[in-house]
Amino acid sequence: MPELPEVETMRRGVAAAIGATITRVERPACRLKPIVVAPRIDVFRRRVTGRRIEAADRIGKRVSLRLDTGAAIVFEPRMTGLVLLAEPPDVEHLRFRLTLSGAEAEQLWFWDRRGLGSVRLVAPEQWDDLYGPGKLGPDALTIGLPQLQERLSTSRRAIKVALLDQRAVAGIGNLYASEILNVAQVHPALPCGRLTRNAWQRLHKAIRVVLEEAIHCEGSTLSDGTYRNALNDPGGYQNHHRVYDRAGQPCRSCGQGIVQRLVQAQRSTFYCRVCQSR
Ligand SMILES: [Zn+2]
Repeated sequence: MPELPEVETMRRGVAAAIGATITRVERPACRLKPIVVAPRIDVFRRRVTGRRIEAADRIGKRVSLRLDTGAAIVFEPRMTGLVLLAEPPDVEHLRFRLTLSGAEAEQLWFWDRRGLGSVRLVAPEQWDDLYGPGKLGPDALTIGLPQLQERLSTSRRAIKVALLDQRAVAGIGNLYASEILNVAQVHPALPCGRLTRNAWQRLHKAIRVVLEEAIHCEGSTLSDGTYRNALNDPGGYQNHHRVYDRAGQPCRSCGQGIVQRLVQAQRSTFYCRVCQSR
């Protein structure tokens, strides 16, 4: 968390910074463990001050602002990072700030409670090493069925665990993997090699359906309240979760099964024994 729908919501929010010129770069004093900012802030500042933001993109679970130099500022929220245009939830966890001129947005913040996120200025020649095909699979919103099957079907892992592998397919994390498998009616512990052709088709369709629904609702804000969109408002998809974090309650897909919790690769998985029988 945040996963593809939350990061896509942030990206759409910060599109208001497109066309802006960066006038100031700050790393506010923070008494907590510092996040990764690369290169060093003085070098970073020298390379981006006076430059124009030309595009706002998403790379898997990261937001990228492309500059007129061809380089990009890449924000990786990891567990608790937020890319914001509005005042952050608190100043204590404010990690990075851009002051802008010439666009609708006047400031852009990176806020991170746990501090596992990062802000990197990435030159075009570094791009492939960091985000190229060897590091990151095709995006979950656009991957084709043959590609999905080719990248996952030879894996011996359980399908739920394989879906979290960003090298295979980019953007899906722990929350949406449970939701997607529920909609696809696939048991999370089924080894990839045992999915039928029909199951791959259902899975491919469910990936897009669930992610698009979640983007439409601006992502999921869980009970810890951490995730906010670029304007510091919560998402709404948590009210539509079919199985995630609902152990012991009825499955919202079939209304009959009781949601079960299972631990796979140290992460919780939620599923319904009725819709997702092996
Ligand atoms: Zn069910």
